[in-house]
Amino acid sequence: MKYSTVEERLSTFVGWPHRHTPYPLDLARAGFYYIGPGDRVRCAYCNGDLNNWSATDNPLKEHIRLLPLCPFLDGSYKPVKVSQESKSGWVQTKRDRLKSFIGWNGQVDPRQLAHAGFYYLGNSDRVQCFSCQTIFRDWVAGDDPWIEHSKWYPDCPYIQLCLGKEIVKEIRRNVLKNAPIDVVDCVH
Ligand SMILES: [Zn+2]
Ligand SMILES: [Zn+2]
Repeated sequence: MKYSTVEERLSTFVGWPHRHTPYPLDLARAGFYYIGPGDRVRCAYCNGDLNNWSATDNPLKEHIRLLPLCPFLDGSYKPVKVSQESKSGWVQTKRDRLKSFIGWNGQVDPRQLAHAGFYYLGNSDRVQCFSCQTIFRDWVAGDDPWIEHSKWYPDCPYIQLCLGKEIVKEIRRNVLKNAPIDVVDCVH
């Protein structure tokens, strides 16, 4: 595939019109290469075009918002990228994670998923935890995101912070399988 690396995409930004953010590197990292005219860029994976960039735009966020079915946002969401993004903070709050659930039609309430640390990857019903970066999918009605998260990734720092280590252990032992979970109101 053409433009499959960040370097190749970055090399297209000759004559890029803006001096402000987002910078070509941010755009290239988010899957885009420069086609023009103006500030029009194209995603190497979904061929979607975006333009009219303003200084406050986050390319990855805009990609998720406007081109949610892009395969780049699914498979290529490798931990490296995510942790870079997480540092910038955009999925660390429940409200921001909830914003990612555009186009979601999975079986579980996005508010529950966002609360339990997940944001939507924009493809099928895949979500990823902002903290441990584990990807979950194939949700069925009645799933409790806190329980699934604890069962499959008990070492997640966010889960341990919100539920407490003891509760996570109990869930692992299946003791609390059918009992309601008392979640302390997590600040994140
Ligand atoms: Zn795309
Ligand atoms: Zn996690």
